[in-house]
Amino acid sequence: MRKKIVAGNWKMHKTIKEGIDLAEDCIKLAEKEKIKEVEIIFCTPFIHLRKVSKLTADFQNINTGAQNCHWEMQGAYTGETSCSMIESCGASYVIVGHSERRQYFNETHEQLAKKVDAVLKQNLTPIFCCGEPLEIREANTHIELIGKQIRESLFHLDKETISKVVIAYEPVWAIGTGKTASTEQAQEMHAFIRKTLAHQYDFETAESISILYGGSCKPSNSKELFSQPDVDGGLIGGAALMAEDFIAIAGSF
Ligand code: PEP
Repeated sequence: MRKKIVAGNWKMHKTIKEGIDLAEDCIKLAEKEKIKEVEIIFCTPFIHLRKVSKLTADFQNINTGAQNCHWEMQGAYTGETSCSMIESCGASYVIVGHSERRQYFNETHEQLAKKVDAVLKQNLTPIFCCGEPLEIREANTHIELIGKQIRESLFHLDKETISKVVIAYEPVWAIGTGKTASTEQAQEMHAFIRKTLAHQYDFETAESISILYGGSCKPSNSKELFSQPDVDGGLIGGAALMAEDFIAIAGSF
């Protein structure tokens, strides 16, 4: 059985107090709604990781993650944060290759491969993001691009190791735009990703990997998206900043 996951990407939002309030509200609601079968992850800015991880420590299905990392474990990299530092905060996940980092910070396939390795070496779980910009979707070359993103940053991993990765398919044209991929579009891409994994590794390995959908996912569309056979949950941006919406999404399986 693949893990069902709903991960909130807080991006560059929330002061310390606001972040604690949000995490506390989400935890209370998740308890009230008795959400136990879904893994809930708060991917917070670095400043929140320690405190929010303490809040989640007592809950087996609620965890924290970082939104980025450096690939070296330490060194003279001013402003960067390593996976050993992230792990020492109590986090379990790291988002790698979010489209905003590819776009604004020019992260390359090679750098992302090194980040994936660093995350795994620290016994953390990468949430590896892939997704196509609008012009690629319009040119109908999105399948090729997603295949390349996965191949170039993940396929150096062996079978046992790739099973530890979570993949998030996030069409860039749907992120923060209010424009969600249709359930058919999401399912088509998730099935393609799984088929690509099965081709490179094997059926069992591909079947064991959780593939999340991201892009304007909200309580009004999450149920339908998550009902697709290859959609194992969501990576949620805007709606993760409101406890009621985020937990409603987590409760929509
Ligand atoms: C994201 O940034 O990963 C995301 C999916 O954002 P939003 O839900 O706001 O589209």
